[in-house]
Amino acid sequence: MKSDLLSKSSFIRGLQCHKSLYLHKYCPELRDETTKEKQKLFETGHEIGILARGLFPGGVEVPFEGLAITEQIEHTKTLLGQGKEILYEPAFQYNNVFVKVDILHKSADGWEIYEVKGSTSVKDVYINDVAVQYYVLSGLGLTISKAYVVHINRYYVRHGGIEITEYFKKVDVTSSTRDKQSYVNQEIARQKIVLAGNMPVTDIGSYCDNPYECDFKGHCWSHVTENSVFELRGNKAKKFSFYRAGHRSMFDVPEGSLFEKQMFQVYAHQNQKVLFEADEVSHFLKSLWYPLYFLDFETFMPAIPRFEGTHPYQAIPFQYSLHYLGKKHGCLKHREYLFCQNADPREELIRTLVDHIPDNACVLAYNKTFEESVLRNLTFQFPIFKNKIDSIISNLKDLMDPFRRMSVYSWKQRGSYSLKNVFAAIEPCLSYDHMAIQNGHMATSAYSVIIKSDDPDEIQRIKQALLDYCQLDTLAMVRIYNELCDGFSQNERFDHMEILENRAMRDELEKIEARYKGYSEENTLLLYGLDDAASDLFDTLTEELKIDIYDVANATDLIAVPSFMAVINPQILSEDDIALLFQWLELLNEVQANPRMPIYFTSRPSFELPDRSDSFRIIIIDDLNEKYADYFRVEIKNSKNRLLFKNDDLVKTQAVILTMQA
Ligand code: SF4
Repeated sequence: MKSDLLSKSSFIRGLQCHKSLYLHKYCPELRDETTKEKQKLFETGHEIGILARGLFPGGVEVPFEGLAITEQIEHTKTLLGQGKEILYEPAFQYNNVFVKVDILHKSADGWEIYEVKGSTSVKDVYINDVAVQYYVLSGLGLTISKAYVVHINRYYVRHGGIEITEYFKKVDVTSSTRDKQSYVNQEIARQKIVLAGNMPVTDIGSYCDNPYECDFKGHCWSHVTENSVFELRGNKAKKFSFYRAGHRSMFDVPEGSLFEKQMFQVYAHQNQKVLFEADEVSHFLKSLWYPLYFLDFETFMPAIPRFEGTHPYQAIPFQYSLHYLGKKHGCLKHREYLFCQNADPREELIRTLVDHIPDNACVLAYNKTFEESVLRNLTFQFPIFKNKIDSIISNLKDLMDPFRRMSVYSWKQRGSYSLKNVFAAIEPCLSYDHMAIQNGHMATSAYSVIIKSDDPDEIQRIKQALLDYCQLDTLAMVRIYNELCDGFSQNERFDHMEILENRAMRDELEKIEARYKGYSEENTLLLYGLDDAASDLFDTLTEELKIDIYDVANATDLIAVPSFMAVINPQILSEDDIALLFQWLELLNEVQANPRMPIYFTSRPSFELPDRSDSFRIIIIDDLNEKYADYFRVEIKNSKNRLLFKNDDLVKTQAVILTMQA
């Protein structure tokens, strides 16, 4: 049944996307599962809300749990009737919009609204949040003298107990809240129309993640598949502009619209290859030295500082893993540390760490900004270790650099250079999927359980899971480092030069296409031994020429005689392929016996199109490899074994052979 009742949170949801509002109301089963990370955010928000009540002690709460909306509203009315001046979570409804106010305080001039947030600044969406509360309360006739957003003071440092007046910042948003009233009024009317109608037809957009990550993305984004434009590097707005222009796949985006790194990515994905700029990788590797340590911290970031000298959301390390190599090709060793008590883990952790890492060691982290900030914070709190920590920081190198700069990019990374994606590209069999703990958020949650647990079995199980997880992170780094040293698989590699050559080749093909336009309708194109990139090039060509395509490598019917044939990249042909190709070319020899079909062979640069009135085939050969050159030399004799083409200068492995009949 349709209902146009809005709540504060559904109004904010509707501001982000009307479809989200509709789905939330009528199709909740399509919602994504709540992640542990989101659940943690809710819990933190709740904790902060409770703490903020200390700014106005002595208030009365209108609970949400166990009371229906109408009961909460009635309870609020009763409390107001009793002259209560501080209320926590009072409930109001006006024009079918239901809101609860975090803190409502009566001052000499009227009521003050306080909206409590767990962030460290005021965001625009918070003003909307307050504005809808203002709309409802003033609509009910309450005089609102002030409206505030209360957020965490990021500069607060805990000394002793939490001083909440220092910990929180109250920001007066009364004026902007009032300015928004007519907008809120209109938007409420719009949202009610949405709720009374059919599901809005809304395509995905940048609003799916802004201001909040929508929990219907699993539903709305299901059509976004592998190799989508969203895997491209670059800002979201640009990717959405590709998408809106109808380019769902990165392969559809016109090359001129891509910036260089995106072009490399597309090439890597199309050819299932790895971009590997050998000079840049070598430069990076030369900046490292032995002994080489691979470091990874696990941390938790409490919104309310738990320990002396810490600030809100400071990353507190409780665990690290350290793999190390004493010398090149040396034996890989491992050290680790995990603090399992419900106390401050930092001092013992840093004491162990500086003991584990020698002064002269090169230390690799993945995204070293994080490890560096953790270490720097430790120097402030434990100056006794400052020199040692400073030495580690000065020797810290970032294994992410070659991937962030795209000196290396594998199509298997799917657009991301996170440790897990890069590792998955290198070691698809060694994924985190089978692990009890699969990411940092799960590690933090597990840690919060272990330090409170008094069940020895549970403690042992979680402890092992944490150690396994953190160890895999540094092991992944070792594997990535080794892969960089080994230069990735040679035959999967390409560099920017290959792209330039490829572009030149395509330009050439485009010229050929322009020449043959009109000659080849109803022709058949046989493609042999094509890799995907070459195949795509010819797809374009054949689409223009309107001819059928057969992949000879998979053909079982060898009777069809090609009137147009292409052989590309013999280097990717197996011996079986070559044998099959022989059969084809023998067949071709038969055809060549037909005097109506003269054959023209040429190397591409000097090729001149024969007279249009001729029936013809054209064979274009370019840079044929020594190994395969013989095959091709044999094959391009005619049926009387007369050598039709001979080129002793063929040296490289690239061939394009076209046979074509007008
Ligand atoms: S995923 Fe995007 S389009 Fe779908 S409901 Fe959410 S915000 Fe709207």
